[in-house]
Amino acid sequence: MTKKLSFPFERAPDKGHVQEVAEGVFWLRMPLPFGIDHINLWLLEDGDGWTIVDSGVCNEETKTIWKEIFAKYLDGRPVTRVLLTHFHPDHLGLAGWLVDEWQAELWMTPLEFMFAQMSHLDADGHLYSGMASHYLRFGLPEATVNMMGKMSSFYKEMISPLPPMFHRVRAGDPVMINGRRWEVMIGLGHSPEHACYHCPELNVIIGGDQLLPRITPSIGIMPSEPEGDPLRLFLESLKQFYEVPDNCLVLPSHELPYRGVSHRLDVMYAHHDERCDRVLTACSKRGLPALEVVKAMFDRELDPMQQMMALGECVAHLHYLIYQNKIKREIHSDGLYRYTTVGEPTVVTAFA
Ligand SMILES: [Zn+2]
Repeated sequence: MTKKLSFPFERAPDKGHVQEVAEGVFWLRMPLPFGIDHINLWLLEDGDGWTIVDSGVCNEETKTIWKEIFAKYLDGRPVTRVLLTHFHPDHLGLAGWLVDEWQAELWMTPLEFMFAQMSHLDADGHLYSGMASHYLRFGLPEATVNMMGKMSSFYKEMISPLPPMFHRVRAGDPVMINGRRWEVMIGLGHSPEHACYHCPELNVIIGGDQLLPRITPSIGIMPSEPEGDPLRLFLESLKQFYEVPDNCLVLPSHELPYRGVSHRLDVMYAHHDERCDRVLTACSKRGLPALEVVKAMFDRELDPMQQMMALGECVAHLHYLIYQNKIKREIHSDGLYRYTTVGEPTVVTAFA
């Protein structure tokens, strides 16, 4: 078995064009206005119609590109289904619009549907207000914490109104597309119930953000679950992908399709091991505040938005180590959490 990745396609299709990557599976790209500048989406032949996987963010540019693609590539057949990997705005943003345009069905996992609805309805930042006390204890300035309340309106701006109904996708119930079985594999940790779709017959897996070729998906604590352990959920759910054949073509949401999933999994496990080692080394000095641990994990300058994301990642690693009794958390007299490595494993039942 070759332990590296191979990239069968040298470049992505041009804007407004599609490229066939497997029989009846077409790849297209949409621009993104933040972070990574693009997202990969998939257009699948499906009997008398088409299934679209993920949608792009809600803006006029993306709608215009979709209309060009509809005019050029649908062969007179309608879009009958919009199938999603997860609720993040680059994936779900235009799902409501697509469903409306085509009177298509929306298929996704229940938790992703609920989180999308909840985030969309949360206009006043209620979901984030509960996190404020935690973020102050991490040492974030009050002004930055207040900025977080605006994150929910950011989500709302990136998505078109969602349909009130959906069709449930779940592990164990394959989705049939064009007469072929696409097995549903659920990844946790990056989002609540992220679906990947594996078609053994085509030897293709739609990996979403779970199986990216180079960058690791961000794993941070959710505002609604501030004491959560998302890194453990992510790493545990990642194991199942070792069952996918190594020559399977992975269709990721960002960058290029690739083969060599087992190597990619090895690298992701090694990456988080290394991050945990950094955290443990940093915390061997007694009582380090979270923002100091962030500096040890990411040795580069971060802008306020990056700092918030980095803090989320950092706390995810801290929680992972706390739940394994490798780190303990205490509240210092200044009101901040301090993190210290535990010399010998001791039994703790909850956070300090
Ligand atoms: Zn995502």
